[in-house]
Amino acid sequence: MKVLVTGAAGFLGSHLCDRLLLEGHKVIGMDNFVTGRPENLAHLADNDDFTFVEHDVSEFIDVPGSSLDAIMHFASPASPNANSPYGYVNLPIQTMKAGGLGTLNCLGVARAYDAKFLLASTSEIYGDPQVHPQPESYWGHVNPIGERSVYDEAKRFAEALTLAYHRYHGIDTRIVRIFNTYGSRMRLDDGRAVPNFLKQALSGQPLTIYGDGSQTRSFCYVDDLIEGIYRLLLSDEHQPVNIGNPSEMSILALAETINQLLENPLEFVFFPDKRGEGDPERRRPDITRAQEILGWNPTIDLDDGLTRTLPYFQENL
Ligand code: NAD
Ligand code: UDP
Repeated sequence: MKVLVTGAAGFLGSHLCDRLLLEGHKVIGMDNFVTGRPENLAHLADNDDFTFVEHDVSEFIDVPGSSLDAIMHFASPASPNANSPYGYVNLPIQTMKAGGLGTLNCLGVARAYDAKFLLASTSEIYGDPQVHPQPESYWGHVNPIGERSVYDEAKRFAEALTLAYHRYHGIDTRIVRIFNTYGSRMRLDDGRAVPNFLKQALSGQPLTIYGDGSQTRSFCYVDDLIEGIYRLLLSDEHQPVNIGNPSEMSILALAETINQLLENPLEFVFFPDKRGEGDPERRRPDITRAQEILGWNPTIDLDDGLTRTLPYFQENL
């Protein structure tokens, strides 16, 4: 296949490009570097199967060449952290444009080239969920004008638009709802919990806990996630599929695990007011559909995943 990956210079997009190239596909990567880094794609500079186009997906997209088999739309800021310049709270218009206009443009390309389209959606679709764990059938609990709404509502719009193009134009679409994922190539300063904690523990600083740390998340290692997404691309499933690791833990437990792994004697510092508005209390994917439809299960536990992630953080500190 010839595949266009938007958000290719980001954390997940760059790992996705690697996987597609490994499987023998040709890849066009597209990015405007609003949160991504050229370094994430530097290793592909001499790869004849990879082309890069610097472009903002919220503007009309010109695809190089005359054919295209699939578009995987990953372009969007993804960190909720208002304390980071890369958090979507600080990039509100870009975030809504990437999810809104960007999705519209990508679906237009899919229609013009008769290509498959896969949308990177998110567990934020479920907001601060009142159903636990979250199955795809849950409609969510989202504040349409809250701090996180620029991201949540853009992704909800993107899902609706994707299914509109599927139903009305017959486009061959996929929607993956991604839960918290970590690994190499995350920006050290994007403000998400795993990069913050790894950076702090490696520098011998106390870990910053927002609130009391009792809120939960379920962390998936990047290779597991990319495997699930690749299987979804090859499947015939048009309805949304959750991909994430259902192993749920409190943020305090995550911080303890990282401190132990790095033998950081300094423990925690609590910031009761830094938990952003709408920060979900609990989050865990129900992955029954991924198991049944894709035969997918995560295989890498947190200790293993963090150990694999560590060299990147050590090199980039
Ligand atoms: P990231 O910030 O590392 O990557 C996003 C990439 O998109 C960046 O390279 C950025 O420069 C690019 N981008 C943003 N707006 C763009 C635009 N208008 N035009 C072109 N490029 C643009 O984030 P990530 O964690 O790799 O997330 C990738 C995708 O996965 C996002 O769509 C995000 O919503 C989704 N997602 C990620 C997670 C996660 O845990 N990492 C969870 C849920 C959903
Ligand atoms: N968090 C924290 N300290 C940090 C960064 C994040 O306690 O330095 C908390 C944050 O408030 C949230 C959780 O960790 O409750 C996960 O945050 P992240 O930004 O990784 O992603 P989210 O799941 O909220 O999208």
